[in-house]
Amino acid sequence: MRKYVVVGIPGSGKSTQSTMLARDFDLVRISTGDIFRWHVRHHTKIGARVRRVMTAGQLVGDVLVETIMRDRLDEHDWNYGFVIDGFPRNRRQAEFFLESYDLDAVIYLDIPDSQVRHRVLSRRLCERCGVDYSLIESRPEQEDVCDVCADSLVTREDDTPEALTARLFDYHKDIDVVLELLGRKAGVFVIDASRDQGTVHAEILSRLGLPSPPSPGGSAGMAEQGR
Ligand code: ADP
Ligand code: ZN
Repeated sequence: MRKYVVVGIPGSGKSTQSTMLARDFDLVRISTGDIFRWHVRHHTKIGARVRRVMTAGQLVGDVLVETIMRDRLDEHDWNYGFVIDGFPRNRRQAEFFLESYDLDAVIYLDIPDSQVRHRVLSRRLCERCGVDYSLIESRPEQEDVCDVCADSLVTREDDTPEALTARLFDYHKDIDVVLELLGRKAGVFVIDASRDQGTVHAEILSRLGLPSPPSPGGSAGMAEQGR
């Protein structure tokens, strides 16, 4: 069983790296951001509660975050383990998580703010499959169309300069305490996330002592496609 948490500022590549890791080792990827975006898109009660907060780049309340995380983990569909993306984001969430679950490693994607601004403000999301595209590094083959499912790509509502500033502020405010708390339970691996996706992925595998999966379908295949 492998249990990982991926931590990093918006645009550091959490979603891409957690997706690659989950695919390679049959782990369940759990992204709080994706769960909330799903609720917004499907106009659920939770969606109605979080929409404004998310659009402004602010954090959803801890009680709701904890409820959705508990419900998700309680599904116990993670036979080989999980990769969590976007949680925990502050002291309370970290304490909540550590009370009930254990952890093998924290993957900290380290990158300067100056570099993510450009990345985030030029990214597009496929709402159906959650894949995100950077118009700089991983352009879709056809403009504004998802390579995977052919749905149209949209700009995330919180990928505006104002909301990004708020998200970066929150992140920097709480990251140290989150790393300190998680670090008591598991090793924290600091990865230089300013490099391309394939390189970052390969370093994560090597630092965690994980075997490289065979291509195609493995990371080499992904790198060739530029994703
Ligand atoms: P990013 O890391 O790029 O900001 P995410 O997709 O992880 O984006 O999250 C998007 C939004 O969802 C956040 O700005 C916040 O409003 C909400 N959210 C996600 N995870 C959490 C969390 N653990 N605690 C509070 N709010 C969260
Ligand atoms: Zn898609």
